[in-house]
Amino acid sequence: MSAAPWLPTAAAEPKPNQRAAKATKATAVGPVRSNPTPAHSSKFLTLSRYAGRGQGEGSVYRATSGNITFLSSAPTSPPTSPDLFCISCGYNQHGIVSDRCPECGQSYAALPPSPVRLPWTHRRHLGLLRAYWRTAGQVIFHHEEFCHQIDTPIPLRDARLFWLFSILQAFLPILAAAILLFFYPPNHNSSQMLHSLYEPYQSIYVPIPIVIFFLLGLALFFAASTGLPSYFCHPRALPIERQNRAIALSYFASAPIGLMPIIIALLLAARPFSDFIPITMTLKFLAALLTVFMFGAWYIRTIRIVLTLSQRRRKTLTVLLLTTCWVALATICILVVPISLWYTTMLIHSLF
Ligand SMILES: [Zn+2]
Repeated sequence: MSAAPWLPTAAAEPKPNQRAAKATKATAVGPVRSNPTPAHSSKFLTLSRYAGRGQGEGSVYRATSGNITFLSSAPTSPPTSPDLFCISCGYNQHGIVSDRCPECGQSYAALPPSPVRLPWTHRRHLGLLRAYWRTAGQVIFHHEEFCHQIDTPIPLRDARLFWLFSILQAFLPILAAAILLFFYPPNHNSSQMLHSLYEPYQSIYVPIPIVIFFLLGLALFFAASTGLPSYFCHPRALPIERQNRAIALSYFASAPIGLMPIIIALLLAARPFSDFIPITMTLKFLAALLTVFMFGAWYIRTIRIVLTLSQRRRKTLTVLLLTTCWVALATICILVVPISLWYTTMLIHSLF
């Protein structure tokens, strides 16, 4: 049981057990404190609550006009206070009684801590990019901490929004670079492959540069390959609620492909220096290094997240199956789909 005078009466953050408590028509059993007088706000009260971590059990509080009434279903286990995290910096506030975060100094009067520690869910407070990159950093560098968040509910809509944002972050810079190269064609130092994407077929068979078909295939690949892990995250052995949380969290494994803008920026930055070989080589080397890191982190982290969240026993089989699916998706989306589309367009064009 913890006493935290800075806890708000009506926190804006989601309360994991609120729905469960409403559903069970809980009755008021807890202490009622009226007219609390903390130093910084008349609305701040001392209260405690306990949660059936991840199981939708426990209690929830309701605040009206400065009073707090505890609504509680009968707990099946001894009450334990949930960890709360500073929204601004993610610091665990467990056991800390203060009206400010000891780590970053964030005032809890303005922004109370939340049991949900995923920065993406706090994007309204943190800002879109800050919330995205903090979440991405958690996925890439602290995946165990990330997987622990299966204890708190993450809305599927939030997860899919993150997934969409990752896909756009990966695809839009490539699209922009492709458009740029269309208007400023590849120079003599560019690879033959790059030339072939823009030059040979556009006026002979199809009045569309072949690069457009590959871009469509690439967009399809990003969407399919980052959505695929969710299919591995709902084994029947898990309770439905945990399956849903695992599915939502699996969408965040797409975070590493958000590094794509930096790779494209490095490659584009190399173009004006094409006559200065050392600079070009350095920028291209950095881009290659980051590409390896991005795909490596994407692969390894997705595998780890799927294995942790799904709790599958046949780990090797899961890894093999996921890898095979990825290779198949890459082949289909990046080769089969563009070539089929190009061939179909060529046939249609030849009819007229
Ligand atoms: Zn903080």
